[in-house]
Amino acid sequence: MTNSNTVLFLGVAERAAHVPDGNTNLSKWNVLGLRSIIISSIFPIPLPNLYIGIALSFAALGTQIRLALIDESDKELGFIDISTPIGVPSEEVPIPTYSTRPIMITEQSWTPIFLPIGTNSIVIERPGTIDIRIGSSEGETIGQLLFILVDPPPLEPNRIAAIRSDPAAMKALRIAFGCRSCDAKVRGYAALERNNKLESEGWTWYANLPDAFTCTCGKTTLSLETARRNMHGLLGIPFTRSENIELVPLYEQESLAKLRKMYIDLLYSKPREEELQNFLERNPVLLHIFPAVRLFTKPPILTHFFADFAIVTPQKELLLIEIEKTTTRLIKKDGGIAADLSHAFDQVHSWLHVVDEHRLAAIDAINIDRIEVSAVRGIVIAGRDLGYDSLHLRRMKGQDRGRITLFTYDDLLFALDSLISRMSRL
Ligand SMILES: [Zn+2]
Repeated sequence: MTNSNTVLFLGVAERAAHVPDGNTNLSKWNVLGLRSIIISSIFPIPLPNLYIGIALSFAALGTQIRLALIDESDKELGFIDISTPIGVPSEEVPIPTYSTRPIMITEQSWTPIFLPIGTNSIVIERPGTIDIRIGSSEGETIGQLLFILVDPPPLEPNRIAAIRSDPAAMKALRIAFGCRSCDAKVRGYAALERNNKLESEGWTWYANLPDAFTCTCGKTTLSLETARRNMHGLLGIPFTRSENIELVPLYEQESLAKLRKMYIDLLYSKPREEELQNFLERNPVLLHIFPAVRLFTKPPILTHFFADFAIVTPQKELLLIEIEKTTTRLIKKDGGIAADLSHAFDQVHSWLHVVDEHRLAAIDAINIDRIEVSAVRGIVIAGRDLGYDSLHLRRMKGQDRGRITLFTYDDLLFALDSLISRMSRL
């Protein structure tokens, strides 16, 4: 009989892989993000695409296990079937369906196993606990998942700019909240800006969603309060694809190709520095080689200077970016650094000096949370690749300048090119 002497609940994991242990035919689990608490900024949500972790005892061998997910009102939201043969050390070891490798279990220990929950139709309606019970709602509880609502920060301009600079970020997402028994649905969308086309197709701007959705057959009532308050929090972050949530990529290949042409035209027009600044500001995807959580335009370096851009990366680096002109001379005839470029490095050195001397005040002045920054680096974007000896150019770009790195406007163009070709292969 299946009970808590045969199966334990360990939690849910973001990823789990059953891999060979060394150069043997034994195996082990690589597990990432194992936990029993799941945070979300909106409810209802589909049960995220996770792995359920369980441990089986010897007594579980050959049995079929059904784990029911039961909410606080004792309603069964769905179930997970574990009906897999488990190998025992013997001549013929059966291979379970969830792995290409047999799993050995010993008589006196618990054997961990991770199974994809899959994109089935389990919907978590509200924050709270979900019991994992054996069999049905009548069964023994072997564990709990706790769902917690966490309100996302508001979408500030620096966050919107960072999302726009990230080619993989989503500019809009649509969620259809529906009933499984009837066709009734309410459709909501969130985006960086409102979209008339979506609204004419029956999608409601998330902030205008009603309090609740009640379907026509009467079986489903969902509170939409958190979706209405927080749906913007899902923008710009990777999110589980599911049948109920659609994500729209921010950049399509076509619009990037158009941007590429405009950028090349700009480079050849010998633009003033302000024109370059404005162009990058309007098209921050050109800066996507610097991954951004936040992107600031003309941030102050205390009261002394302004940088052209500042970026906070996911690795908690603060990048201070100085842009020069496309015509800025980089290299002298003898291969040494040209005066204009040298001046740009000096500029960034003085920013870094100010930030090092008055670190907290400088970070506060840009309006960044102190805990978001652990290191500060400088970037100079200047000049073109054309017209230099390729060896000199390579040496100039590769030279160790401590915390400052040089990029040319052509480097941004190459990065855009490779982004376009990556997207065409999708
Ligand atoms: Zn219904």
